[in-house]
Amino acid sequence: MTEVAEAPKSGEQARSARINHWIGGASVEGGSGRSGPVYNPATGQQTGEVDFASREEVDQAVATAKAAFPAWRATSLSRRTEIFFRVRHAFHEHREDIARFLTAEHGKVLSDALGEVARGLEIVEFACGIPTLLKGSYSEQASTGLDVYSIRQPVGVVAGITPFNFPAMVPMWMFAPAIACGNTFILKPSEKDPSASVYLAGLLQECGLPDGVFNVVHGDKVAVDALLEHPDVGAVSFVGSTPIARYVYEHGTKAGKRVQALAGAKNHMVVLPDADIEMAADAAVSAGYGSAGERCMAISVVVAVGDAADPLVEAIKERLPKIKVGDGMDPENEMGPLITREHRDRVASFIDSSRDQGATVVADGREAAPDGGGFFLAPSLLDNVEPNMDAYMEEIFGPVLGVVRVGTYEQALQLVNENSFGNGTAIFTRDGGVARQFQFEVQAGMVGVNVPIPVPVAYYSFGGWKDSLFGDTHIYGPESINFYTRGKVVTSRWPDPATSKVDLGFPQTR
Ligand code: NAD
Repeated sequence: MTEVAEAPKSGEQARSARINHWIGGASVEGGSGRSGPVYNPATGQQTGEVDFASREEVDQAVATAKAAFPAWRATSLSRRTEIFFRVRHAFHEHREDIARFLTAEHGKVLSDALGEVARGLEIVEFACGIPTLLKGSYSEQASTGLDVYSIRQPVGVVAGITPFNFPAMVPMWMFAPAIACGNTFILKPSEKDPSASVYLAGLLQECGLPDGVFNVVHGDKVAVDALLEHPDVGAVSFVGSTPIARYVYEHGTKAGKRVQALAGAKNHMVVLPDADIEMAADAAVSAGYGSAGERCMAISVVVAVGDAADPLVEAIKERLPKIKVGDGMDPENEMGPLITREHRDRVASFIDSSRDQGATVVADGREAAPDGGGFFLAPSLLDNVEPNMDAYMEEIFGPVLGVVRVGTYEQALQLVNENSFGNGTAIFTRDGGVARQFQFEVQAGMVGVNVPIPVPVAYYSFGGWKDSLFGDTHIYGPESINFYTRGKVVTSRWPDPATSKVDLGFPQTR
């Protein structure tokens, strides 16, 4: 049994660590000669160096996962359930350690990191129900003396490629159902915050998951391409930006794999004039600036309808100076830094481009950002944003919230539906009829009614429409069971010599 690594106690104490792969139940030093820096975004200091896998190292991980597959798929459902209950317990017991890895490398505040772990744990809990989830169906006497039944069997070796913004939760979305279904798994986490994945690997091993069932290869495009092209990888789950999701989907399906690729977003929150403006402002601020706007379900655009606009912009503006921005390890802080200096600068550039293109800059987060080397940008608010502006057309993925003013509900709906993304959306109103109409008409995969971040609970599935998802299946929940298994239908007759005869006709059921 391997000792799991120690979590950093604070951003400052995060050691300058070498972050290795995890293959076959052991930490494996990279041999490609390629690696990348890992930073503490709150200080701007490099805290680690992560190995980048070569194609040969990916081959080694796939071979290990392939070798572990026959025994794991033959492991009884009750044994798999027992392991998953232990995993649930271990992840919960170590939630603060997991959260500290997230804060040290991603930057999100500890309370938010704990929230990430909690939402990931819900998927582990879902996986604890695997015996029920894998139940097939049975038709007795489909024809005389003949029974038909369906079963679902694991795909084999499956891979998960994950983004920087949820380094623990998104991997759990994938590996928990995949492994519970009997697959073996290779995770390629984001190279920007890779430590949590290896920590989780150690915990999985402590819980009795056999070596080789869960593996981690770090890296960049080389590792991703190797997974997409490897003939022994049967399915790939991807979460990340739209251009890469499209690439992964096209490249992976071309190589004959099952692929689900969840992508970028531009989530609109429609606020009708009859909404409770104070409540809507609280929701817009929480969903716009939580995790520094680096959530695929963050609210990025507030669509203020009619008279809602002036009081809403004022109420959001009032709340911004009260948000404490700083090192996420300090429990006083509510919003941490962005992931890299380049990303912070790109996000901030939308403030200038919006002003140049005619929007009103209500709050410029550069003015209130903490000093020092951290990659901070305080909450920024843009009013009078128009659909042809860069800040509207592109996914900003940072704490820059735009307000688009429209006259009617119909115009708001049209705006949401014409956007190329369709991940999440929300409507704020007291009118149940309009809310129901919105739910009926809006083109997005996840809809909130007076709920700004409608991430589905674990027993529903998560996924967007349009450019927010490539592939047919949503992630986790019931759809994950279909994605990570293949259906098989058995038609069975037990010999009865009394009725046996030669019959060359096509089998009939009546
Ligand atoms: P990203 O697309 O840059 O990276 C995602 C993964 O792809 C990483 O593991 C990365 O190493 C790999 N990758 C990067 N460039 C690649 C290339 N050229 N070829 C092959 N692989 C490559 O995304 P990110 O910046 O880490 O994450 C933020 C993005 O993820 C945002 O667009 C956000 O909306 C999206 N996201 C979507 C969801 C969702 O459920 N729809 C959830 C979380 C994040």
